[in-house]
Amino acid sequence: MIQEYITLSADETEKLGEEFAVILQPGDVVCLYGDLGAGKTTFTKGIAKGLGIHSRILSPTFSLIRIHDIEKGPIKELDHLDLYRLDTLDDIQKIGIEEILDDSEGVTVIEWPEKLKGILPKQRYDIKIDIDDDKRNIKIHKYE
Ligand code: ADP
Ligand code: MG
Repeated sequence: MIQEYITLSADETEKLGEEFAVILQPGDVVCLYGDLGAGKTTFTKGIAKGLGIHSRILSPTFSLIRIHDIEKGPIKELDHLDLYRLDTLDDIQKIGIEEILDDSEGVTVIEWPEKLKGILPKQRYDIKIDIDDDKRNIKIHKYE
């Protein structure tokens, strides 16, 4: 299944993330592909909002992962990874990437998932964001 959207501003991309979050289930993995500045973190902000998270979503560039607890609903936490600075899989294995991907109670959102080639679960959402000035073409694929 592929769905395709065009957004014209960061606000619209955030809103799309918020709407997308409605379909998320505990255990889901969402991979966000796109160049620096494409809007991956902006989309993640929308997901967080949609999941009822009120804390600020910053790009976790310097920490690889940020975990946000969720008080209400079936999804217990949002694990937000930004792997831009990841050099070797060793570094991510140290933080227990397998456990994070296997976690059946949370939702995992990954910026720069290319770095995890080979260990991404087959069942996941792949979201590709292409830049055209302020326009973003956003394709959502679901793999089961
Ligand atoms: P990434 O996480 O992919 O590096 P960010 O979400 O941090 O990207 O940043 C996206 C940047 O692009 C922001 O500065 C935002 O204001 C800008 N922008 C302009 N148009 C859009 C759009 N349609 N959707 C998302 N971001 C946009
Ligand atoms: Mg980012």
